Amino acid sequence: MNKLTILVVEDDSSVKNLMTTTLKAHDYHYLTAQNGKAAILEASSHNPDVILLDLGLPDMDGVDVIKKIRTWTETPIIVISARSEDTDKIDALDAGADDYLTKPFSVEELLARLRVTQRRLSRMQGETEQESVFTNGQLKIDYAAGCVYMDGEELHLTPIEYKLLCLLSRNVGKVLTHTYITQKIWGSSWENDVASLRVFMATLRRKLEKGPDAPQYIQTHIGVGYRMVRVE
Ligand code: CA
Repeated sequence: MNKLTILVVEDDSSVKNLMTTTLKAHDYHYLTAQNGKAAILEASSHNPDVILLDLGLPDMDGVDVIKKIRTWTETPIIVISARSEDTDKIDALDAGADDYLTKPFSVEELLARLRVTQRRLSRMQGETEQESVFTNGQLKIDYAAGCVYMDGEELHLTPIEYKLLCLLSRNVGKVLTHTYITQKIWGSSWENDVASLRVFMATLRRKLEKGPDAPQYIQTHIGVGYRMVRVE
C-alpha cells in the first residue's frame, strides 16, 4: 500500500542491497544512485518521494548534494552516516536534511524512519496553508491566540518557551539541530545559546511532559538537537 518512490543513494553495494531488498519487501518503489552526481540527476529527473542519502560518497560531499537538491525541492531527505561522521550529520541537518540513520542500522529502524517521513509527507500534502491550530495527542497550540493547552488546561509558558514549542511543532517529525534552533530563537548560535537552549528546554518539558524521564512529545538527540514526535 506504500507505493512511494524512494531514491537510495549509496556506494556500498551490500548496504544498498539491504535497503532495496527491504523496500521491495514492503511495497515501496525505489531508484538507486551510487554517487552524488547520479543522485542529483535521479532526484531531478524522477522526482522521488523520499531520498535516503549516504553521506560518504566517492565523488561529492553528501552535504553539497543536499544543498544542491534543496535549491529546487523540499523532498524529505534521510541521511545515512557512520558513527564517526557525527559532525557531517549535523551539517546535513543544517543543510536541509529531515532525519538521519546511523550505520549500522536495522531494517526495522529504516522502516520506522520511513513511516515517520511518510506521515510528515501526507500532512504536508494535506495542508493548503499554515493551520492556525496545532494538535498533537493532548497538546493543542492556538497560534493565532498564542495559547497552549495540555489535556484542556492552559499552560503558562514564557515567551522563549512558547517560541521553542512553536518552532518544534511547526517542524513536527523533523530533527532540528541546536544551531538551527538557536538561530531561530536568538538569531545566533554561540556556545552560550546552546547552553541556554538546554535550560529552556528543561523548563518547557517540565510544563509539557507528564514524566520528564520518559518524554512523550520532545525527543532529545544527544549532541544533535531535538524533535517533536507525533503522539497518537
Ligand atoms: Ca559510502
